[in-house]
Amino acid sequence: MTPRHLPFRITLLMALTIALFLLAVGGTTLWLTWQLNERAQRDAETMVQGAIGDVRQSLRNIAIDYSIWTRAYEIMMAQDQDAIYAEYASGATNGDIFQLLALTDGPFEGTRSWIADGAEEPAPGLVPEPVIDEMRERVAAVEVGSSEVPQFFAEADGVLYLFGGTRVEHEDPEAIGSPEPSSYPLAVFGSRIGEELLEEIAFHYLLRGLRVTDAEPRTGSRLPLAGAAGTPVAWLSWEAPTPGTELLGRLIWPLLGVLGLFVLITTAVTRMARRYAEALVREEKRSSVAARTDTLTRLPNRMALGEALQRAERKGEAAILFFDVNGFKRVNDTIGHLDGDILVKKLADRLRRIQPAPDFLGRVGGDEFVMMLTGPGASARVGDLGGKVREEMIPPFEVRGKSFHVTAALGYACRDKGEVSLEELLRRADLAMYHGKKQGTTAPVRYDPAIDHGSQETLRIQEALHDALDAPEEFSMLYQPVMDAATGRMVKAEALARWDSARLGPVGPDKFIMVAEESGLILDVGGILFRKVCEDMQRWPELEVSINVSPLQLNDGEFVRKIIGILGEMEIEPGRIEIELTERLMVASPEMAAFKLDQLREAGFRTALDDFGTGFSSIGYLKRLPFNTVKIDRSFMADVPDDERAVQMVSSIIMLGHSLELAVVGEGVETAEQAEALRGHGCDLLQGYLFARPMTLDQLREVPQADAAASPPRRRARSRR
Ligand code: C2E
Ligand code: CA
Ligand code: CA
Repeated sequence: MTPRHLPFRITLLMALTIALFLLAVGGTTLWLTWQLNERAQRDAETMVQGAIGDVRQSLRNIAIDYSIWTRAYEIMMAQDQDAIYAEYASGATNGDIFQLLALTDGPFEGTRSWIADGAEEPAPGLVPEPVIDEMRERVAAVEVGSSEVPQFFAEADGVLYLFGGTRVEHEDPEAIGSPEPSSYPLAVFGSRIGEELLEEIAFHYLLRGLRVTDAEPRTGSRLPLAGAAGTPVAWLSWEAPTPGTELLGRLIWPLLGVLGLFVLITTAVTRMARRYAEALVREEKRSSVAARTDTLTRLPNRMALGEALQRAERKGEAAILFFDVNGFKRVNDTIGHLDGDILVKKLADRLRRIQPAPDFLGRVGGDEFVMMLTGPGASARVGDLGGKVREEMIPPFEVRGKSFHVTAALGYACRDKGEVSLEELLRRADLAMYHGKKQGTTAPVRYDPAIDHGSQETLRIQEALHDALDAPEEFSMLYQPVMDAATGRMVKAEALARWDSARLGPVGPDKFIMVAEESGLILDVGGILFRKVCEDMQRWPELEVSINVSPLQLNDGEFVRKIIGILGEMEIEPGRIEIELTERLMVASPEMAAFKLDQLREAGFRTALDDFGTGFSSIGYLKRLPFNTVKIDRSFMADVPDDERAVQMVSSIIMLGHSLELAVVGEGVETAEQAEALRGHGCDLLQGYLFARPMTLDQLREVPQADAAASPPRRRARSRR
């Protein structure tokens, strides 16, 4: 379930719950009502049946009482009219137990009948003839002396009666000669099912509308009353009792109230839950976006990049551009982190403007950005994209009224299909960027497997270097003489490191110094090399040397103290040593460089600016910083003396050096012509294969030395600043 559907689900669930609850309550209530009604109706039926049963029973009892009775038999046989009324028929006229009586057969001619509240004199047809005929037939089937009383319902004069019949018998039939049963008088009793009885039953059993109907009633409860033929001749009917309905009628409003309240409360709770869930979903979404956004630039961050890579993995052709602002740390150190942040923000804004926009643009580190292109043409477009990024960096960035130039190293990598993962493509682009950074180029660098090999070689060198720290004998020092341009004699020598690795064989200083710098091993390696030079200087107390020092060594706060310590230990004068530094130091931080150079000078060292004319070459640095010597980079030598512009360049550096009272060294002198040209322009010192290659200390002793007294006046460090 996605959290987005949560509010809807809550509502649905609650609505279903409410509906179900209402259904359950409603259903139960109706069922209970129905059950109550049903039960009451069954009870009423049983009661009415019981009441009618009572009527039958009392009619039967009276019939039996009046049946086997010698006195009654005798007065009837005697036709004693007064006694018949007084002792027998008056029961009908006073109507307490039965309300109709007919006497016939036996001694009677025709029928004599009496009715409740009627006359003493008998009437002939109060009981209908068919009732008497039917009763005669039924009683005939009853044995003499039996107490069986046939009964059935029938109407008489529009009123319903329960009739029962019996013979009026002698108690000892044998005493009168066991007459034929049919010769006995027949008595028919009628018990009236009239208003009075019904009222009594209704009152007793709390029934409403109890009455007798001829036709079967359509509604309400009923009880059939069987006639002579066994089929109903009438029905007792009454209003079906509905206690359930009545109860419901009384409960319905409170119940509805409670239900309404329940619905209201649940709806309110649902709304609350829904609002809470919505807030939760919003919050979830917000924090999910926040987790994927760089707070400073609002660009997607590294996490977002990881997801973007996963999403785009199946897109086939793709290209990734990786770039990193050069010297961003220096920018931060110079202008402070807050202003550094402003710069990054402005940079991000410029990157956002680039059209057509890449499929992904994100900031993945302090000064690292990634762009991704996917789909057909991605590989073809990425170079262009790199160019655009580079262009965006050209205009200076304004930060609090100051303007800054920054450059970036760019690398990219492409794939045609899914041959490598995007993760790998990112690694390749990163590597290509790093390569470009090392090369000092701002042009986008395309990934090449050779770069990978290079980096693998770097790794191998790094490992071997690590081991070499415990085997300093793998390192050695060669010395290249530096000649006085006028006399051609050696005035000093430049110490150049050599490493014969047990693992890798000889590795050139260009390579291993760089790797040592990158891996942070340069402090240890530099220490080993410095000691070696000092040991040689101890063996040759007149020797003056130039020692190359990496900017990273100089950045180590302890550096000057450390080398002074070593020199003190070995009793070597700092004045015999010239520290050679490249411009890389000044670029990183001119203020720091000035401070360090002052430190060195105060400690008594001489300083030289190495490889001048390459890289950043700022005359400004040369002017501001207290060097003793400047060394013209050997790359200029190749075109000297044939290329007029190279010669001009060299001559201007010499003039500049002299104007700043620096000693000028021409490096990489391989031919006599080059030496001649340099000498012609006033270069003070010369160094190169023409005179000598780097050599061992013992070999160096063979080189003609300048006479200390005859050596040209050395230009001293000026007191500037
Ligand atoms: P570098 O300081 O510019 O050193 C001069 C380099 O030029 C040396 O290479 C030297 O052999 C070479 N060279 C001298 N004359 C000629 C010439 O006439 N023609 C040509 N083509 N080359 C010439 P090497 O010894 O291979 O050193 C290379 C770089 O390694 C040095 O450049 C320096 O930057 C670094 N390096 C060497 N030793 C050390 C060291 O002890 N410490 C540090 N930090 N760096 C060192
Ligand atoms: Ca050097
Ligand atoms: Ca050099």
